[in-house]
Amino acid sequence: MNATRRDLLAGASAALAFAGLPGAPADAFAPQAGKQNAGFYRYRLGTFEITAVTDGAVTFPLSDTFVANVAREEVNKALEAAYLPRDQITIVFTPLVVNTGSKLIVIDTGYGPGMMEKSKGATGQFHANLTAAGVDRAAIDAVVISHFHADHINGLLTADGRPAFANAEILVPTTEWKFWMDDGEMSRAASDMTKGTFANVRRVFGALARQIAQFEPGKDVAPGVASIATYGHTPGHVSLTVASGADAMLVTCDLTNRPELFLAHPDWRIVYDMDPAMAETIRRRMFDMAVAERMQVQGFHFPFPATGHIEKQGTGYRIAPSPWRASL
Ligand SMILES: [Zn+2]
Repeated sequence: MNATRRDLLAGASAALAFAGLPGAPADAFAPQAGKQNAGFYRYRLGTFEITAVTDGAVTFPLSDTFVANVAREEVNKALEAAYLPRDQITIVFTPLVVNTGSKLIVIDTGYGPGMMEKSKGATGQFHANLTAAGVDRAAIDAVVISHFHADHINGLLTADGRPAFANAEILVPTTEWKFWMDDGEMSRAASDMTKGTFANVRRVFGALARQIAQFEPGKDVAPGVASIATYGHTPGHVSLTVASGADAMLVTCDLTNRPELFLAHPDWRIVYDMDPAMAETIRRRMFDMAVAERMQVQGFHFPFPATGHIEKQGTGYRIAPSPWRASL
């Protein structure tokens, strides 16, 4: 190991020495880019074209309460096993665009551009990446929202707080709407996090007002897009299925979070699950269905482009990421 490293370093020194010799290329070094490229990825599902569009990611210190029922060191062990840094959590956000051939549908919207400046570009990239993917926000027919946490709804607005999808129908789950718009529920909110969510929900939908349409889970919300009640993460959280011909995909939304932690340990209770027991029951049922049906899944908080197949592993599950497709 040491010998190899010494050999490599010796080679590097020789190359540097050579660069100073007469006849060596003068401008061998290109400036570093210093930023990531636009983040979107396309694949087909039946006759539909799906575009996964990243909103970026947030990184924060691992707290003792991030997983409510597990000691911090257990979480660190799982991070290390996945080659992720200890003591910090990175959460990624992947909204989806479904082009059915006749309709353009967005599923969840990320934090949106309001977070760009605050996060120094790490989060809030959704609209910029939509543009990079050649998708005009004004051409979106419908935006389907899975639940009302900020990382799913704030991208409904532009950086200056105006409706970002001017011509789209905004579709939200009825139960979710009822809960977050209920003043009694708001007055009973116990944690600062839930209080903050109530305020944010009202800010975002207040800015949209007349565009909101509610849907009952179990029915089609758009051509080929159906919703399933997967309550627990929030009182009205839904997952979605996207189906074209014989092909169908489960869009898990927030049934789970980072797969290295929460697919591997479906009993781990992430701090954002509002009814953790209910969330665990429904996530196991949905994952078991995805395994049994060998169904492609798209997970909002999975590593980009956030799609693959779920399989059983040990006492939990794992994601087998779909291979990169170089063409459609
Ligand atoms: Zn989320």
